[in-house]
Amino acid sequence: MTATIEKQELLYTGKAKQMYATNDPEVLWVEYLDQATALNGKRKVEIAQKGRLNNRISTLIFKDLAAHGIENHFIDQPSDYVQLVRKVTMIPLETVVRNAASGSFERKFAAEHLTKFAEPVLEFFYKSDELDDPFINDSQVLALKVATAETIAEMKRQALLVNQRLTTIFAEMGIQLVDFKIEFGMTAAGQVLLADEISPDSCRLVDLKTGDSLDKDVFRKGLGDLAPVYQEVLTRLATVEEDQHVSD
Ligand code: ADP
Ligand code: UDP
Repeated sequence: MTATIEKQELLYTGKAKQMYATNDPEVLWVEYLDQATALNGKRKVEIAQKGRLNNRISTLIFKDLAAHGIENHFIDQPSDYVQLVRKVTMIPLETVVRNAASGSFERKFAAEHLTKFAEPVLEFFYKSDELDDPFINDSQVLALKVATAETIAEMKRQALLVNQRLTTIFAEMGIQLVDFKIEFGMTAAGQVLLADEISPDSCRLVDLKTGDSLDKDVFRKGLGDLAPVYQEVLTRLATVEEDQHVSD
């Protein structure tokens, strides 16, 4: 990557980030927003520092994953709110990995909260605001031509590797990784590449000592201020990553 990447036109404003083109067609300029949404964007609140915190957490996690052989779209974090990433064609699926029952799994099956699974559970959701991101199974993905069987297998393989590494990192931080959501894109060469973000917005995290939520559930359930909670996650993550010399 050259040091001369310049921000160009706004391509997309999402619920948590804005994506801009750059002078390099293969590089996107991502701005993390000080904004939290719930109910698929129907509830929206400004939260000071949230964008900075998520950008830094996501940066440290992407760098750690790359250092552990899990390639991803991260290129650089040039400033507090900005990340440079490899532009990919997003696959419109949310890949969810669960280590214990919570959220929609708990509701759907009346499962006991935080019951641990012997093996991780993997689910796909079809990314569509109009349809409210419905659950989608493998044959539905194939029927809708959202992804090929090969791509599905590759997303699952990478998702389980991400789960192994994230579970280890968070355990070192005194945190249980209950579940998380990731997204993949396709490079021009046909490589399935981990993209988007990994932050407390997209992970369900529980403090191993206190049982407190350390993620967006604090906002969803109105449990208090989000920023100090995300700051706590960042502080613990930075300590673990400094020990491994992964941070810059
Ligand atoms: P949402 O679209 O769900 O509101 P965001 O606010 O996080 O979410 O917006 C970021 C958008 O950018 C998402 O649509 C995501 O799929 C997309 N995206 C993430 N990483 C990349 C990438 N490397 N290349 C292209 N698009 C990306
Ligand atoms: N998730 C996400 N974005 C979404 C939906 C879910 O990042 O649009 C994450 C969520 O934070 C959790 C995991 O995916 O870590 C599983 O979410 P679940 O299906 O349990 O839904 P929820 O009850 O959180 O809406």
